[in-house]
Formats: sequence, C-alpha cells, structure tokens
Amino acid sequence: MTDPLFSKDEMSATLEAAARRAGAFLEDLETRRVRSDDEVEALASIDGELPDEGIGPVAALEQLADPAMRGAIASAGPRFFHFVVGGTTPAALGADWLTSTIDQNVGMWPASPIASKAEMVAIRWLRDLFGLSPDGGGVLTTGATMANYSALAAARRWWGLQRGIDVDEDGIAGLPPIPVFSSGYVHASSVKALGMLGIGRGSIRKVTKDDIGRVDLDALQRELHELENGPAIIIANAGEVNAGDFDPISEMADLAERYGAWLHVDGAFGLFAGVSPKNAHLTRGVERARSVTCDGHKWLNVPHDCGFVFVSDMSLLSGAFASGASYLAAADDVEHPSFTFFTPESSRRARAFDILAALTAYGRDGYRAMIERHLDLAQLLARLVDEAPDLERLADVPLNIVCFRYRPDGRDDAGLDDLNRRLGGVVLDDGRVYVGTTLYGGRVAFRPAIVNWRTTEVDIRLLVEVVRELGTKLAH
Ligand SMILES: *Cc1c(COP(=O)(O)O)cnc(C)c1O
Repeated sequence: MTDPLFSKDEMSATLEAAARRAGAFLEDLETRRVRSDDEVEALASIDGELPDEGIGPVAALEQLADPAMRGAIASAGPRFFHFVVGGTTPAALGADWLTSTIDQNVGMWPASPIASKAEMVAIRWLRDLFGLSPDGGGVLTTGATMANYSALAAARRWWGLQRGIDVDEDGIAGLPPIPVFSSGYVHASSVKALGMLGIGRGSIRKVTKDDIGRVDLDALQRELHELENGPAIIIANAGEVNAGDFDPISEMADLAERYGAWLHVDGAFGLFAGVSPKNAHLTRGVERARSVTCDGHKWLNVPHDCGFVFVSDMSLLSGAFASGASYLAAADDVEHPSFTFFTPESSRRARAFDILAALTAYGRDGYRAMIERHLDLAQLLARLVDEAPDLERLADVPLNIVCFRYRPDGRDDAGLDDLNRRLGGVVLDDGRVYVGTTLYGGRVAFRPAIVNWRTTEVDIRLLVEVVRELGTKLAH
C-alpha cells in the first residue's frame, strides 16, 4: 500500500481547518458555560478502537475537534475561578502555534541555537520582571511542580556538598535525614518533589502557629538554632492557594542567612504581586532566596505547560541534571547553553517564544495593569461577599483569592461544612462559573482565584449571584 504520511499537500488545508475551529472556539469562549451541557456526550464520543485505516488529516481533525471543543472546560475563559489557572493571550497563543510549527528541541544548543537564545532572554526578562538580580540564572519547566523539583534538587546537591558528598553521583543513602522547614502554606507539589528526590515527604516540618498554617517565626528560629543535621532547607511560600496569603519572606531570609540555610521561595502565582509597586511589599525578600519557583500558565497567561525556576547558582542545577554522553555538548559553555543540562528533561519544547511574545506584546506596564485590575476585582468580590447576608468571608484578601462560604441562618459549623461541600459540587455541575471548595482553618470554603486576562466585573458579579442562587435552592 502507499504511505499516507507522505502526502504533504494536505498541510495547508489541515491548518486552515484548525484555524477555523480555533476561531469558532474563541468566539464562544466568553459567553459559553464553563462546563458545557454536552460534556457526557463529548466524552463518550472519544472512544473506540485503534483504526487500521486512516481517514486523512482534515477528516481526523474535524472528527476530533468537535468533541474536544464541545467537551472542553472553558478554563481559558473569564469565569474559571477553580484552582489557579490562567488563560492564553492572543500574543501567547499565536506564538504557541508558531512554536509547534517550527518544532524546535531546546535540549542541546546545536539542536536549536535560536530557541536556546530565546530561553536565555526569556529567563533574563523574567528575572527583571520579578526584581531578581541579573547575576543568577534559571530555566523553563513544564510548571511549578517541576520548578520546585529542580530547585530542591539544587538544594539537595548543595546540602550534600556541605558534607563533602556528591549526592547526584553517590546518592543520599549514607547521609542523615535532610531537615526541611516550611509553614502550613507549603504547596503539595513541594512535598511531592521532596518525595521524588528521596529526601522524603515526611521530612518536612511545618512550623505553624495556628490552624490556618501561618509560620511561627520564633519556633522556626528555635528549630534552626537547635538543629543537629544542619544546615536546613527552608521553603517560603509567596501566595498560598486558599487565601493568597504570603509567608514573611524577608524574615525567613534573615533566618536563612543567620543559620546558613537554603531559602527556596515557591511563588507559582504570588511572585507576580511584585510586578505592581502597590503590592511589592508582599514579595520583598525573594531576591535573597537561592531558588525561586514561578508559573507561566497561571498569571502570565501563556498556554500550558510553562513554568520557571530561578537559581542564584546554575552549577548546582547542572551538577544535578547534566548527564554525559560522547555526542553531547559541553555542560559549561555559558555562551551557548544546552538547557537540558539544567533540567530533568532531555528533549524540550521551545516555551520561550510564548513568553517573549507575551512580554513584547504587553510589556512590564501591561502586566502591571492586568495584575492591578485583578487585585481590584478581588477587592470587589470581597466587598460583594461582605454585603451579602448569606455569605461569609473567612480570610483577608492580600492578593487575588477570596476565601468565603455560603452561610444561611440557623446552621452550625458541621451543617455549614456539609452544605458548602454539596454546594461546591452543584456549582461545578451548573457550569456558569467554575469554583471549587477547600478546607480553610477546618471549614469548607470556596476559594475563587482571579488570574485570567479576560475576567471583568461582570464575571465577578455573576460568581456571587450563582453561588447565592444555587445555595438558596440547596438550603431550602
Ligand atoms: C499551582 C501551584 C504549584 C504547582 O504548579 P503546576 O504548574 O501545576 O505544576 C505549586 N505551587 C503553588 C503555590 C501553586 O499555586
């Protein structure tokens, strides 16, 4: 039989079909339900057996686009407040199409000098955007989880070197447990990273002073002072996911310096607070951290998947991740870096083009304006919650997350937890807005996060309306 993959003339028809479908999807994005009515049907229609005979690219695309777009959660749209998920700006989406088109592999410098150069510049611009010193480096990752993993791999290497051990060569089996401290705000992905690194999920000690998880600085100081297997690794959190609160990074940096600890800051979305001078006090001290994590697919509003890790000493990353092979480039060529030497992956997508396109299109000022708009929207949401007799705000709103619960009269805490848990499910099923529940200080609560560039006041008002409307139905 003839080889159907050799029919190159279908490329432009396929791309035109894709552009048409994408256009229709985007046109609908701001008005459609976040969760479509057709979801069950769409899910069912992606099924069946591997076909022996193909139907060609245009037909395949049409067949797939239909359920994919009908069934998609509109997380790229303005009313997805669940988790912390950004959308995709026109600049970033356009660049992402081109990135797939030129299909570069940013592993070894010679495989793509242009994408490697783009990554160097992206890291430099991002460090500048976040107020980090130009002396350090960094690398793009699939997200904050891999950024936390990479940062903590650098920390683990540093810790071993203090004891004359190359942990990446010899492992950590002969070493005492590595002491890791954080507040109760530490993200699950950092804990997971500790597990993946063999440091152990159980090694982390959360030094807290209340059931919200705020750090107890005095207790942390005592722990560091009395530490036997020092130095420690300290994880500070710039923006936790329940209420958008921050650990006191400056104070934790003071303690890290005093006791020779490694300070890592997870600022997956919270690092963006520093882009606006109005909120820069929240991230103060981050420039003193040895490693910092941030996400692109959250507040930068570039497509999934994209994250960044920044470190003050790149040699710790290359010590952890450079793997020798005779055909590979040199790990210490700083003029022509091979980014694979600084990350877990060997072959890598050219994520830098989306970042450069977004930052070139909107600039530092554009991001500042968007962040400030989002923070104003969060304050508006807090006010609407405070004004509603059947809603109760549970936390201050330092950033972009508003933690609140539905609270009709005459129910105790257990009753309210049950009601809010069920209401959370009903809101997701309804699909006009999308927001999940969490446990905050032991209470079931909503925690909408505002990160999408499309979100406006109308969406915020609808969020409050929908929660109250569905809550009233459920409570009566
Ligand atoms: C989202 C998030 C992560 C994990 O990020 P991914 O990009 O999903 O891997 C880590 N830390 C914090 C604070 C987050 O908000």
